[in-house]
Amino acid sequence: MTPFLAVQPTSHNQFRALMLFGRNVASYKFALAKALLEVARGGPDLIKLEELAGPYTRHLRTHLAQAAKQATSQSSRFLEACRGANAGNVSDDELQSITVSLGFNNVIDAFHRLGSQEVEQRFFLDERSTTAGIRITNALQALAHDPAAADLGSETEARWCLVETAWKLGVTSSLIAYDNESQAFTAADGSRRVAVTSARAALNGYQKGRCFYCFTPVTIEPGRLAADIDHVFPWALRLLLSGNPNGVWNLVLACRHCNRGSAGKFDCVPALELVSRLHRRNEFLITSHHPLGETLMAQTGSTSALRVTFLQRNYDAAKLARIIEWNAAIQHDAAF
Ligand SMILES: [Zn+2]
Repeated sequence: MTPFLAVQPTSHNQFRALMLFGRNVASYKFALAKALLEVARGGPDLIKLEELAGPYTRHLRTHLAQAAKQATSQSSRFLEACRGANAGNVSDDELQSITVSLGFNNVIDAFHRLGSQEVEQRFFLDERSTTAGIRITNALQALAHDPAAADLGSETEARWCLVETAWKLGVTSSLIAYDNESQAFTAADGSRRVAVTSARAALNGYQKGRCFYCFTPVTIEPGRLAADIDHVFPWALRLLLSGNPNGVWNLVLACRHCNRGSAGKFDCVPALELVSRLHRRNEFLITSHHPLGETLMAQTGSTSALRVTFLQRNYDAAKLARIIEWNAAIQHDAAF
């Protein structure tokens, strides 16, 4: 039986993850989030798009005034209208009508999406086809009134500013991370994954030439089946993790399909089954007096119980921040 326990993300965790880890091709999601937190604080739960248009465009117009680039695509009639309103060439009524017809097109559909999946919690229901609006859920109303979640608005704002900065600098927003310790958003200095090629042979000894996740054959020689070195707890979450994410405790060999294929792991949370498998791998290296055993104990704890606690702490931190778990869809017979 796995010694590891599941953890249930709160709606607060899930809302924050949508802001931090969703795909950003435009900043509409941030504007919608800020507008939602605002409207959820007062009044009725049904919000017509024409009512939502006001707070939604107000946030976008404020940001457009300080950063011209608010989307990765070249042109948007909706953003043009917001710019026009800022310049005094588009009236409030015109802007409202353009926003209702164009401004919400993708953002309402995509709001709950996180990578290729959706978060469980719904913050609003899409009723555009029946009531020309959205219905705020109890969860969002509770969040908007929760003093413990009072920082969500400013966190969204901070994230928005950093995404703008990333676009301006031409770097990807994956270089931007939330620093739990200082509770601040930081743009990483570009420090990339360290070279870990020397660890390949050592890791392969345990994995018997198989992918850690799906058990498909891999090799440590260059070529088509060459294994990737993968961080089980994603490098993208390094600022949230205990211990050095580049430590051997966190490194495995993975096939390309699992690591970066269309259904690949990328920076998702490892499923508990994988955390358990990682623990068994690490325990094996320690009890078999593998040369890496000493390193593992130094990195994760001197006893098995401490090492479970260490991995559990990392799982909790990863899950509450990143929400979406990943496991290999198809697994061959377990080889270890
Ligand atoms: Zn695989």
